[in-house]
Amino acid sequence: MNSLVAAAKAKGDAADPAPGASFADLHLHSLFSDGTFTPEELAGRGGQAGLAALSLTDHDTVEGCGRMAQACEALGIEFVVGTELTAEFEDKEVHLLGYFFDPHNGPLLAEIRKFQVVRKSRIHEMVARLNKINIPLRAETVFAVANCRSPGRPHVARALVQEGLCPSMEEAFDRFLKKGRRAWVPKCKISALDAIALIHQAGGLAVMAHPGLNHCDDIIPILAGQGLDGIECFHTKHSAKMSNHYLSIASRLNLLVTGGSDCHGYSKGKPLIGGVKLPGIYWQKLKAAHQNRAGRCALILGVSS
Ligand code: AMP
Ligand code: FE
Ligand code: FE
Ligand code: ZN
Repeated sequence: MNSLVAAAKAKGDAADPAPGASFADLHLHSLFSDGTFTPEELAGRGGQAGLAALSLTDHDTVEGCGRMAQACEALGIEFVVGTELTAEFEDKEVHLLGYFFDPHNGPLLAEIRKFQVVRKSRIHEMVARLNKINIPLRAETVFAVANCRSPGRPHVARALVQEGLCPSMEEAFDRFLKKGRRAWVPKCKISALDAIALIHQAGGLAVMAHPGLNHCDDIIPILAGQGLDGIECFHTKHSAKMSNHYLSIASRLNLLVTGGSDCHGYSKGKPLIGGVKLPGIYWQKLKAAHQNRAGRCALILGVSS
């Protein structure tokens, strides 16, 4: 399949997928971070959308992965453990997706626990800023809405709507929470190189999420030289032209290609899951790269797999 056709198919523009074709959605959020679906709902909706493989990539947590793995298994869907880390490189924010790592890896869990603690204090800071401008939101309300270890801006937005302090989430972001607005508090970020190393030492692959949203093309080759394994060419907010642009970068730099909807629940009345379909060929290459890496590690360690 040439890259243009692949991009069209991934955006759901092509008429019908080839018979027997399999697709993946490798970027999903559940209510264990800022999504609104349970892992079981994501698996069920993925199955309804005809997806053959899914990953749960909650922000700074892997807690939902066990439930999602079970739900996927029951539906005959392949599942890969994932997470999304907010990182930075040379003052640019980049989001890094980890796949195939050991979800019990000590150093990785220790690091994400640190981020969870910082997320909590950031909520207090955002609420304090809202209170300063006479918006009477309470931090306890945000934590009750979030009901998870990775609270973030969407939970503040939902709490504002629930309390009748703002008519919609969009308006909450526009008025208070977007970068530079009165209640915006910058997020604590891991260095991109540390994030890649952290994912690798846990046995995973590191992929740059939605490069088209972070305006970071210049750092892709640098990170590729430092171990970045792939880039998310297909994403809900990437046009077909953007997807092709990143497919050509991936091809030039010999990077793996991934894709996903970045579903956080309903968006404009529609669940995003299934809206972006990574063609199976890329999913197979990702799996093969992981298996090769794991095989090489076993050889180096003298372990027979
Ligand atoms: P945080 O990690 O707390 O900075 O929040 C980032 C999350 O907020 C993203 O993953 C999206 O889920 C959501 N988000 C960012 N910008 C907006 C926006 N303008 N409207 C709605 N949700 C947004
Ligand atoms: Fe999010
Ligand atoms: Fe992201
Ligand atoms: Zn995401």
